[in-house]
Amino acid sequence: MSLLISAVADMTGQRDRDLLEVTVAEVLFGLLDVQRIALWKVIPHNQGARVRLMAGLESGQVVAMSDPAVEPEMLPGIDHYDGFSACFESQLPLRLPVPGTAARRHVYPVTSEREAVGLLEIESTTDLSDSQDLVVAGLLRIYRNHLSLLDYSEHDTLTGLLNRRTFDDIFVRRVSRQGMAIYADREVEFIGHRRVSLPGEAPWLLVVDIDYFKRINDRFGHLFGDEVLLLMARFMRSVFRSHDVLFRFGGEEFVVLLAPTDALGAEAAAERFRASVEHFPFPQVGRVTVSVGYTRVSPDDSPFDAFGRGDEALYYAKQHGRNRVVCHEALVTSGEVELKAKVDNEVELF
Ligand code: GH3
Ligand code: MG
Ligand code: MG
Repeated sequence: MSLLISAVADMTGQRDRDLLEVTVAEVLFGLLDVQRIALWKVIPHNQGARVRLMAGLESGQVVAMSDPAVEPEMLPGIDHYDGFSACFESQLPLRLPVPGTAARRHVYPVTSEREAVGLLEIESTTDLSDSQDLVVAGLLRIYRNHLSLLDYSEHDTLTGLLNRRTFDDIFVRRVSRQGMAIYADREVEFIGHRRVSLPGEAPWLLVVDIDYFKRINDRFGHLFGDEVLLLMARFMRSVFRSHDVLFRFGGEEFVVLLAPTDALGAEAAAERFRASVEHFPFPQVGRVTVSVGYTRVSPDDSPFDAFGRGDEALYYAKQHGRNRVVCHEALVTSGEVELKAKVDNEVELF
């Protein structure tokens, strides 16, 4: 019993989102006498669901996970693994033989509060006993509850987009070379291949602000203002790609971290978004426009520096007529703004 309580404490004490699934797998490994445990996330995709390995443990030793930067298109389909589709669709646990061995594979559905989100795979020499089954079911429920709490704390309640608190972590993970260092104390093998970035490709950061939003609130009331914010978030989801990360930074300001692309791709994405907002008839409110400042992100960028440049370009867009997209690098090239020296984040303040 005390083992179980300490296992639960390990799981719910895990605040590093990336390591939550690893902890869950480790905890299950400690409680069950099995050979292999893998926790998968199921990612909806228009060409059929994909699966991302969140944690894979064998003999309690090796931890493997899909490289977090692998785009959904590059992940294996759910049909790639025996029993995954059947378990996910029926939402019922499955037991399968492992071909060529006497081992048994158990596949369990993992659900969040609202929907099915993943699969748990357990391989052992014999079928799990009823009491082992109960341990699995109980821990999956705790995992699900913990996941809902984390989701709640990471998302903006009005729009459902990620909130500002999550920005630094996600930025570092997606952008920085050192992003993987958080796994350093564990022996992690990343599987899967990132889309190969072509020369000239990089992530980009877009800072978006609704023009004259205060007027919308003043003329139509806060409820209509909120409706505009909701529609804006929906727009962003449909215009940007699934691997671009969307944040509501507060008020009527949004941030997009674009997956690696070249300068033309970034401009096209920003411009496509701006134009689609401009041409959408917002119910009651009518025409709404946005201004966008954007900047190329380099591997040694800090979230603070990158946001600062995007914001500076946004300010320029606001000063020059609004309803436009402005690239920070273009402003530097044309001499409109000066490139600031990097802030040394290592400097200790006291
Ligand atoms: P600009 O074109 O320069 O960006 O002008 P603006 O009016 O959009 O900018 P300003 O910063 O003056 O006003 C932003 C307004 O957004 C003020 C605030 O009342 C409103 N706001 C902030 N958060 C919310 C919210 O959650 N819901 C609603 N309805 N309004 C909000
Ligand atoms: Mg505004
Ligand atoms: Mg604003």
